[in-house]
Amino acid sequence: MEEEFASRVSLTSKSGLNAIYPSRDPEMISFTGGFPDASLFPNQELAESFQIAVTNQKSPLQYQVGEESAELRSKIADLLNADGTVTCANQIMMTQGAQQGLDLVAKLVINKGDGLVVEGPTYIGALAAFDAYEPNYFSVSMEDDGMNLTELKRMLIQNSIKLIYTIPDFQNPTGIVMSLEKRQQLIELANRYDVLILEDAPYRWLRYEGEPLPTLKSMDTQNRVIQLGSFSKILAPGLRLGWLSAGGQVFNRLQELKAGADLETSNIMIQTVNAYLSKYSLSNHLEKLRKSYRIKRDAMMKAMQQYMPNNVSYTKPQGGFFTWITVPENIDLESIQTKQLKPSFHVMVIPSTNLFPDKSHKNGARVSFSSVSLSQIDLGVQRLGNGLSDGYQK
Ligand code: PMP
Repeated sequence: MEEEFASRVSLTSKSGLNAIYPSRDPEMISFTGGFPDASLFPNQELAESFQIAVTNQKSPLQYQVGEESAELRSKIADLLNADGTVTCANQIMMTQGAQQGLDLVAKLVINKGDGLVVEGPTYIGALAAFDAYEPNYFSVSMEDDGMNLTELKRMLIQNSIKLIYTIPDFQNPTGIVMSLEKRQQLIELANRYDVLILEDAPYRWLRYEGEPLPTLKSMDTQNRVIQLGSFSKILAPGLRLGWLSAGGQVFNRLQELKAGADLETSNIMIQTVNAYLSKYSLSNHLEKLRKSYRIKRDAMMKAMQQYMPNNVSYTKPQGGFFTWITVPENIDLESIQTKQLKPSFHVMVIPSTNLFPDKSHKNGARVSFSSVSLSQIDLGVQRLGNGLSDGYQK
């Protein structure tokens, strides 16, 4: 049957997206999933919001005929404006999670072989979405303050690049925040070389320390930045509700592509979240999330300091769900995971191999602290430290 499939299928199956799902082994401590902590979902509030939504007058169980999502889009626009990004309800499109935004934007601009810049490493699900459009990837390395712009500039000079994909706030998978200077320079480069930017910001409102930096979208004067947001990390991913904010012709075309993909985003979920935001305080909920994830982040940092061998470095995220470990260059973390970490130490991370488009980078891994308990963080990082020391010697 395989030969009947389009060539893009063989590309996407290599994405390794399965790696993010937790293991079924009860002994395993899994730092793989970027899942939110399920104990923080506002179950009761969402149940009440659903109840309100399903009984309202706007036929929430029907297909949408017009402006059903307008109230929610306007609330999202208010949230974005309060965060410094000037936008309005009619420049916001509801999507089935931010994931759909990744797919639609690639569908909009990428022809087979077109230049697409991603951060190295990047979000595994973005590669899975982009792969289907068969881009020519350029992976720009990450520094402590975001992507290496000298490298980026060289790529832009030497190649025809259509799109730059970035996660400026608490990047998945490294936890890194792009500095203000780099944000400014990135916008300047995009203007100079006439490139679109896809700013993916699902973790932006989960900052545990320090001051927020302006979004790329807020610095954009030429309608170059398409920004993605999501309720997945701040309410619940099962809602499958995200949004995309863009302007001009880009926005109109994306709406057409969206209609072709799935007609519309779930009306009942739109009305449910709208009711939630009318009745409850999102900022109180966010405060609760930040407090809880900050404790986990701190526990992760403490455990890293205590148990990691000296030759392992790790990032210190100011927000989000992830830290990134780097082991010596000659070490292949994927092979250590298969041979030592999983079978003998019962601990799992996401090795760097699948987080780079060319799969060449072997000595890093994403370690997620969002959905594990404090005791699992301590025990799991201890196992990881021991497993790595053991693995080096084999
Ligand atoms: N972008 C990034 C950077 C992510 O980490 C995720 C989820 N892990 C997504 C997009 C997709 O999220 P969702 O579709 O649930 O909004």
